[in-house]
Amino acid sequence: MKEACGVVGIVAPGRDVAHLCYDALYALQHRGQESAGMATYHNQQITVVKDNGLVSHVFADTTLRALAGSIVIGHTRYSTSGSANWTAAQPVYRSAGRSGFAIAHNGNLTNTSALADAQDIRVTSMLSDSDLVAELLARSVERGASLAEALGEVLSGAEGAFSMVILEAEAVHAVRDPYGFRPLCLGRLGTEDEPEGWIVASESPALDVVGATFIREIRPGEMLTITTEGVESVQLLEPAGEKQKLCIFEFVYFARPDTYLMGHQVHTTRRRMGELLAGQSVVEADIVMGVPDSGIPAAEGFAKASGIPFGYGLVKNRYIGRTFIAPDQDKRAASVRRKLNPLRENIEGQRLVVVDDSIVRGTTTQALVRMLRDAGAKEVHLRISSPPFMWPCYFGIDTPTRDDLLAANHSISEMNAFIGSDSLEFITLENLRAAIRLDGECCDACLTGNYPAPVPVALGAAGGRW
Ligand code: AMP
Repeated sequence: MKEACGVVGIVAPGRDVAHLCYDALYALQHRGQESAGMATYHNQQITVVKDNGLVSHVFADTTLRALAGSIVIGHTRYSTSGSANWTAAQPVYRSAGRSGFAIAHNGNLTNTSALADAQDIRVTSMLSDSDLVAELLARSVERGASLAEALGEVLSGAEGAFSMVILEAEAVHAVRDPYGFRPLCLGRLGTEDEPEGWIVASESPALDVVGATFIREIRPGEMLTITTEGVESVQLLEPAGEKQKLCIFEFVYFARPDTYLMGHQVHTTRRRMGELLAGQSVVEADIVMGVPDSGIPAAEGFAKASGIPFGYGLVKNRYIGRTFIAPDQDKRAASVRRKLNPLRENIEGQRLVVVDDSIVRGTTTQALVRMLRDAGAKEVHLRISSPPFMWPCYFGIDTPTRDDLLAANHSISEMNAFIGSDSLEFITLENLRAAIRLDGECCDACLTGNYPAPVPVALGAAGGRW
């Protein structure tokens, strides 16, 4: 299971936009570590640089210097659909129209087959949903539409999740699906009186890092068109309902703790999750520790509310990304050891409350509990700051099928036995919602099975990925 992609778009005349985009992508590295890329427009030409690997591997200073111009989009990728090889790296370029265009996409379309069939496009395993959108846009532009018109035409037929940035000569468009599943925000470089440029990005820390001021989030179904003249907004697509459906897992795990989503700082919501989780039952323990990094804020909240001292029990190798490098089960245990090492003197003989954000397959958590016991823990009480993860995501997260989701096939006591903890408790859905303080404005299909938009499978007991 991996996390959602990151996108950036910048228009800033006179500024070194490639370096700014590099910094912004670096801030979004946690959203995808498979590939990184940028597209710039300069001298009537779009240039794309992309490759597999981390942002810092893909771009050297010399590469960035060669990317001239005042307009850029960028992407960090992990694969939800299409393959994980080089050809799937983004931005995706097409030569249609006056200057051609390039797109970078975070999300996942759920009706790709229907979209492709309607225009006789052969779907191959090499074709990602972003390639498909690019192809559909190109066809529309070749029929005489402007890129903005083409976006309206193509995206009004698209179902699923998309936060997209699109570059053409002199303009960046930024558009969000009618549910607002994946985040996307706007910031300004310079002052209100003298703006020096504009930036859109998946998460607000990408704005902070380039010195931009957060302005607002892009609304569900809205398209911003950014040029050197400023920012224009159109409601490209009808919002799907009165309430947005931002992915609840952005709060639980994906987003950076310093990110603001719909007015809430993610770290604060995670701390509240821990506080409310602690209030659900009493546990006797000596220390509360979080599993780095995403379990730490909730552990802090748990400690505060329970009165059990907060402490550190695990050290994380900070040079290891979030992606599980080793995909098979055996190697996963080894990858836990590569990533986390216990602080023996804090653990030995202690009754631990261990707070983590989620259990997906249960395999890394099992390896973790074994590691803590080997380090001398007397008791391990596992507390999870999201309810049981039972349903696959079709809106931008690469999740296992229902068969592989531990909670889909086991009771909590079976999960406790499998993982080897002394006790296991999950935050309730009510408490998670209370911690986030967004009433009905989140998609929680992974926890409830209530998909706000059509999904491309019959959701029988088997469920699964298509
Ligand atoms: P497991 O025990 O195998 O279910 O793994 C649970 C761990 O995976 C928790 O520590 C989570 O923080 C982490 N996790 C949750 N979602 C993801 C994801 N999308 N990518 C990588 N790790 C994740």
